[in-house]
Amino acid sequence: MRIALIGNPNVGKSTLFNSLTGLRQHTGNWTGKTVGVAVGYYNDLEIYDLPGTYSLIPHSEEEKVTSEFVLHKDYDIAVVVCDALCLERNLNLVLQTMEVTDNVIMCVNLMDEAKRKGIEIDLDKLSNLLGIQVIGMSAIKNDGISELIKSINNINSNPQKIVYDDIIEESINTVRLTSNSRFEAISLIMQNKSDDAKVVRSYLIDKGIDFNEKILNKKMEICKSISKEVVHNTKHYSQSKWDKILTNKLTGIPIMVFMLISILYISIIGANYPSKLLFKFFNWLGVIIESGLHFLHIPSVIINPLIYGVYRVTTWVVAVMLPPMAIFFPLFTLLEDLGVLPRIAFNLDGYFSKSNACGKQALTMCMGFGCNAVGVTGTRIIDSPREKLIAILTNSFVPCNGRFPSLLSVLTMFFISRSIIFKSLINALLLGLIIVLGVFMTLLVSKILSNTILKGESSMFILELPPYRKPQIKKIIIRSLLDRTIFVLGRALIIAAPMGLIIYLLTNINISGVSLLSHLSNILNPVGKFIGLDGVILTAFLLGIAANEIVVPIMLMIYISNSYLIDITNLDYMKQVLLSNNWSIVTAICFLVFVLFHFPCSTTLLTIKKETGSIKWTVVSAFLPLFIGFILCFIIYHISLLF
Ligand code: GDP
Repeated sequence: MRIALIGNPNVGKSTLFNSLTGLRQHTGNWTGKTVGVAVGYYNDLEIYDLPGTYSLIPHSEEEKVTSEFVLHKDYDIAVVVCDALCLERNLNLVLQTMEVTDNVIMCVNLMDEAKRKGIEIDLDKLSNLLGIQVIGMSAIKNDGISELIKSINNINSNPQKIVYDDIIEESINTVRLTSNSRFEAISLIMQNKSDDAKVVRSYLIDKGIDFNEKILNKKMEICKSISKEVVHNTKHYSQSKWDKILTNKLTGIPIMVFMLISILYISIIGANYPSKLLFKFFNWLGVIIESGLHFLHIPSVIINPLIYGVYRVTTWVVAVMLPPMAIFFPLFTLLEDLGVLPRIAFNLDGYFSKSNACGKQALTMCMGFGCNAVGVTGTRIIDSPREKLIAILTNSFVPCNGRFPSLLSVLTMFFISRSIIFKSLINALLLGLIIVLGVFMTLLVSKILSNTILKGESSMFILELPPYRKPQIKKIIIRSLLDRTIFVLGRALIIAAPMGLIIYLLTNINISGVSLLSHLSNILNPVGKFIGLDGVILTAFLLGIAANEIVVPIMLMIYISNSYLIDITNLDYMKQVLLSNNWSIVTAICFLVFVLFHFPCSTTLLTIKKETGSIKWTVVSAFLPLFIGFILCFIIYHISLLF
């Protein structure tokens, strides 16, 4: 049996889906995170998790996915998941679904939260009024899941039919003859889509009847009256206390910046020690593996590329990336679960609309901090194609997780101070500053784009500010470690391991006494010098297109011409290497800016190609940040020359 999970955004569909299937769809306390259809299994049930929608008449790409799925009836039972805290609004989707299929089950989720807030719901009465089975549920605690399964296996629904005025009924029945369901007929007339619908609609207009208004009003009336009969609010609660501070014009943005810097600070200071331990451990292990291989009489031609290429690069990536990610991701997920992300979007909305872009871009930008490819996929929550494209083109302006190590190592080398606590604080502040520069450029470039090649007004959107929810600490840790940390790390390793081999070969294959890598960097040197960098740095970025986290190791390897990666546990030594290759504080600044603005990594570029379906826009998204990086570095370098 095929089961479709339908519901407004943020009502717990993915949580229910995960409980049923044992899979780990992304859950979070904000609207618009499920953008594609996920499929999983519970015994012989095939379960589909659909993107959240307020209505089956779609207003955006993800809503269209759900609406088409529901209308085509490629499932046996529709389970409409609702939020017990705002039943009235959720009922509209239940009524619409009842017009598509008879096999509907309603799940009233978040019953635990409703109880805490003094909201009581008479589920039996609700079931009688609607004529379908209604299950109370707390998906997060697995409460109500077995009841749902029972209902699915013994489906017994006889949905109440909504009866509209006679003339409206006649119109629906006329179009119903050529459509799949009663709802499809209504939807066609509302959107003036098929030939029949057009005839009916113009007939109604002649009579001075507004079909859409009649349909919407009738449904609203029913939702209101049902909700009045079944919902009893014993305590009146308010969440406005926190929102007064977090979304206030004066305090909102400073608090957000403070949160950002705090998260960075905790990640930096917390990652320091485990990173060093991992380095030591991998060095120790490397020596043992190497001697083991020698002991087995394996020839050096094989051992060297394996140990000094594959092993060194791979373990470097793990040691540098794992500790900060294992701290940063749970903290970020915590904010997401609390319900802070939509407030960030709310605070930035004004700035984005001044740039003629969409406030939801703030959400996709935040997703970019984790991974730009994820941010690009997330732009499906933006309705207007113009604004979606702007969000895609500017997503890589915020540093993803893979770029943090490069930023951090150079920051630590060049802006060092005495104590570790103070040093971490300075680093977090500087990193915060770099991120703010990224956000500023996102806004500026969005404005420039929407005044030139992507002209248009910013569209209106409704952003729901969900209630603050008590975070599920255990789930957050498991989810952020498994879904994000291990996923991102796994991706990096898949690229780092072969890359290690390629780099080893490039540094060891010589043409006229000079390695291939050095040849490449010599060619790029004049371009690099022109903007305050050099050929080695540009070569490192070029090879780092596979994964940003290997930029610094490649760079150091070419500088040292040591044929393999050096021990980089010692930052002072690394700094000496850079200084002896003519690095100055200006080079460091230009490097940091270039980390922020160059081309997105290959995974992100592939995702952009998939999302836009256009080679042209993929190329633009690669060259736009590169162009900005060149200009900024050029300006910084040439101003520094004046002094
Ligand atoms: P979706 O957008 O409908 O897929 O919703 P999610 O599954 O992502 O859930 C939205 C938020 O509600 C998340 O923060 C969940 O942890 C939380 N949540 C989901 N179900 C419950 C529940 O039964 N009780 C409580 N208290 N929170 C829940």
